[in-house]
Amino acid sequence: MQRESLLNPGSTIGIIGGGQLGRMLAIAARQMDYKTVVLDPDPNCPTSQVADGQIAEAYASRDASRQLARSTDVVTYEFENVDADSVSAAAELKPVHPSPSVLRTAQHRLHEKTALLKAGIPVAPFRNVESLNDLKSAADALGFPMVLKTSTQGYDGKGQVMITRAEDIEHSYELLSKRRTELIVEQFVPFKMEISTICARTADGKTATFPPSENIHRNHILDVSIVPARIDEGVIENARLLAADIAVQLDVVGLISVEMFVTKENEILVNELAPRPHNSGHYTMDGCDTSQFEQLVRVLAGMPIAEPKLHSPTVMVNLLGEVWEDTDGDPDWERALELPGVSLHLYGKSEARVGRKMGHINVVADTVEDALYIATEARDRAWRRSRA
Ligand code: AMP
Repeated sequence: MQRESLLNPGSTIGIIGGGQLGRMLAIAARQMDYKTVVLDPDPNCPTSQVADGQIAEAYASRDASRQLARSTDVVTYEFENVDADSVSAAAELKPVHPSPSVLRTAQHRLHEKTALLKAGIPVAPFRNVESLNDLKSAADALGFPMVLKTSTQGYDGKGQVMITRAEDIEHSYELLSKRRTELIVEQFVPFKMEISTICARTADGKTATFPPSENIHRNHILDVSIVPARIDEGVIENARLLAADIAVQLDVVGLISVEMFVTKENEILVNELAPRPHNSGHYTMDGCDTSQFEQLVRVLAGMPIAEPKLHSPTVMVNLLGEVWEDTDGDPDWERALELPGVSLHLYGKSEARVGRKMGHINVVADTVEDALYIATEARDRAWRRSRA
């Protein structure tokens, strides 16, 4: 079976979504001489700048998805908020990895949490919320604080609100039910650290996990990833086992990125899944012998996957639109790149907006402390904030 699905270099990978993840996937594909075609309505999207071809149509267009499938050998997607029906339309013609059913699960928080619970994966206690009364009884069961979230279309903290007392239940419900999507409420986890682990799984069931990264968010957006995570070796091992377990139980072929909370007692609770490369895995581009993007290309091609090794402590800092806004569109890359171990990755986005992911910096160093210091300093220099 595996040999039948083997795609040699020269074959073409279809990518639904033309953002930075698609771009970095296309670059990794090109390195091994795979071609890429991207489906994205924007003719100048980050991926189209490096892909071999583009179908400039809406993601929700089934015709466009079919056209993508016809012009490629295998299809993947680079974000979850794509129309699952049009992904299924592509799957009727060519292999789509991860499968549309994995996508549907990951698109819907309630389905996702229910699937994890069924698979015996630890998650924070949660309740389905279909009415104000559901939310009130959830408060009795879960206690405060709790986090109310939309089941779909939420990312980077959008579509969620923390409820700390009974008086706020009604208002919070009104706020989110306006969005006309289903709701879920979870117990608040007083975590000591957020980590994430990316697992690759092949069509014939082999898995390999990347070293977990410690993630620090600012305004609900990933700000810094630190690897190795500054946590016990046993927790790191457990995180990798959990991610592999999820990949197997959900029958993922491709990558599954698993966001997790680590509690004071070193217990791990899974927060969220993404069936694609992840921002917290960008460190692998410079810190590991195989990047998350190369690993995905290998899975899509049916090639053997690598057992990724971290060769040096690595820190990634995101470069958001603020860096451009605060420097009149002219960040000081020259001073940032003077520092040792710095790699700059820019996504080719012409318009900088606050909170928009424009690029990232990876720093490899001898110690995590050095990598963290240099990465922060490099970003500050680019931002013209540093006096050092
Ligand atoms: P999410 O959109 O589910 O990834 O949530 C975004 C961020 O909100 C997470 O990275 C956490 O920092 C925080 N968060 C979400 N759910 C919870 C929870 N149940 N307990 C504590 N913090 C949470």
